[in-house]
Amino acid sequence: MTVSEIVGHLTKHAVRPSPQRVAVMQYLCEHRTHPTAEMVYSALLPDYPTLSRTTVYQTLDLTCSIGMAQKIVIEEGEMRFDADVSDHGHFKCTNCDEVFDFFYPQATVFPKPAGAFEIKEQHLYYKGLCPTCRQSMKMKKRGHRADG
Ligand SMILES: [Zn+2]
Ligand SMILES: [Zn+2]
Repeated sequence: MTVSEIVGHLTKHAVRPSPQRVAVMQYLCEHRTHPTAEMVYSALLPDYPTLSRTTVYQTLDLTCSIGMAQKIVIEEGEMRFDADVSDHGHFKCTNCDEVFDFFYPQATVFPKPAGAFEIKEQHLYYKGLCPTCRQSMKMKKRGHRADG
């Protein structure tokens, strides 16, 4: 999303596109790392010294409520944000804490509870080891064997 698209979206939802709000949204669009509010805050602080944590938290909350981003909670007490609001799954590496996207066909049918339940949100996530961490662990193991 370009800066003018972000401004357009905010204006359409009656949100004043202040430079700080646009910066938060732009960061989220450009960094598909699923950052936490804290990560966004520390990344923007050097360029926006007057930025407050509250502004970052409120802006992220706001962008989610107007459908420009989604919240992802994989770990208790750790909310991450994603500018990709399409249906997709997430994989969190328990070693390096990175969150990776994975996509499945739109027609994928997931099991649903029987009865008149109305599903409002659907999240698919896995936890495990990413390829990089698996590789480095393998090498560590091999290293130990060579020492012994
Ligand atoms: Zn990893
Ligand atoms: Zn994602």
